[in-house]
Amino acid sequence: MRVVSPTSNSIRHGAHVASAQAFLFGLVVGIFFVAGCKPAESSAKPVSVAMQRDGKWNVILISVDTLRPDRLGCYGYKRNTSPSVDRLAERGVRFESVISECSWTAPAHMTLFTGLYPTTHGVTTPGVCLWNRIPTLPEVLKRDGYRTFAYTGGGNVAAYYGFGRGFERYVVSGEGKNGLKSCALDKAIVLAQEQIERFQPEEPYFIFVHGYDLHAPYEPWEPWASRFRSPDAEPFDDYLRDDFDFKKQGRRLSPGNIKFLSDLYDAGVARADQLLGGFFEFLERCGELERTIVVFLSDHGEEFGEHGSVGHYGTIYPECLRVPLVIVGPGLAPGVVRQSVGLKDVMPTVLQLVGIPAPPTRGRSLVPLMRGERVDPWPMFSETDYGVHLRSVIWEGHQMIRKAYDPVPRLFDLRTDPNANRDMAKDHPQRVAEFMAIMPDPPADVAVHDLTPDVDIDALRALGYIGSRN
Ligand SMILES: [Zn+2]
Repeated sequence: MRVVSPTSNSIRHGAHVASAQAFLFGLVVGIFFVAGCKPAESSAKPVSVAMQRDGKWNVILISVDTLRPDRLGCYGYKRNTSPSVDRLAERGVRFESVISECSWTAPAHMTLFTGLYPTTHGVTTPGVCLWNRIPTLPEVLKRDGYRTFAYTGGGNVAAYYGFGRGFERYVVSGEGKNGLKSCALDKAIVLAQEQIERFQPEEPYFIFVHGYDLHAPYEPWEPWASRFRSPDAEPFDDYLRDDFDFKKQGRRLSPGNIKFLSDLYDAGVARADQLLGGFFEFLERCGELERTIVVFLSDHGEEFGEHGSVGHYGTIYPECLRVPLVIVGPGLAPGVVRQSVGLKDVMPTVLQLVGIPAPPTRGRSLVPLMRGERVDPWPMFSETDYGVHLRSVIWEGHQMIRKAYDPVPRLFDLRTDPNANRDMAKDHPQRVAEFMAIMPDPPADVAVHDLTPDVDIDALRALGYIGSRN
């Protein structure tokens, strides 16, 4: 095993910063952005073809909320859930191991938009907005002349969090509880296509498409729900209730109940894939794929019984951290990157691909990995501070999790125990000590934040983040 020490270079760059350091780092970020200065030259040059148009490739960022990679064919799933995404992956770079920095929507997406860890960008609890001096990906692109539009499911990616900054238009494509969830992707794609048709050819654009279509409660969409129903699934009646978060409620579900929900989830993946397939065909038909970088990903995964429940609340195990990531673009040779990367790496990657200097982030451009160059791996840190304080590091095939008020960390060998079910911390004190040396302490108390004045309580409640379900 490679020796992990808190002073090693890779650790210094990858590790979290404590709160005081985060504040100072934020100041640096803010000064950078306000002054508009250029960062130090990147260590890797943009891919050559992506520079042919002076870096003005379009960028389309698609986030299918709550999508587990192992439910996609291109990640090895046996069910035929994702022919469209699989085709997209064949023509681009698929990242085999992507670890989200957080297991729920708002912090994970803000990490995607800023390249910072949740405890650094500060969006760690529902309704808390981004500090206004931290630059976001759409802001950087807009400053460089991009037209910027977003079509999202709202809720925990609502504009007031700071997600709306830098966008000419930030559209919530759902309406009310059911519309918020079930109609997001279909409406978002229609609106995105209409907007793309309005752009002038010389206008580079950035479009963010997001939908909660896979987020619980799992809709029984037909014909997919019937198609993916397993013989051993045990349906039950109240899975579409508002209080769908079984983990929060401590609901006991039989294996057949969980199979029933998992089948509905697969059906949702297949429906989303069909919607996306139409979008990809539209882009190809219009010739947009030849001048557009398409980034396809999710913000976090979902548990289906791996640790006794269903959902992603208050957990930081692999099934809730692993997400898909596919990047397709002009001049990008198809391939697979097996080294672990995170959502914080997307912003510097996109900016390098379009030839725009990136502000300081905690991410690394993935362009060298996409070129097939050898890059030293780095530890993948994740955290959640919503309801429970958990810190995780995945490094060299292992995951260690620390919990506030619990001095004993848990250690899992993901190579032989991919679902992280067998705690082996007691048997490997040396590895525990190494991991402890690079992991931040989870806070003992919940930070006190004020909700932003225009927080949409109904939208957060519809997604299960506010109210009795907390
Ligand atoms: Zn989410």
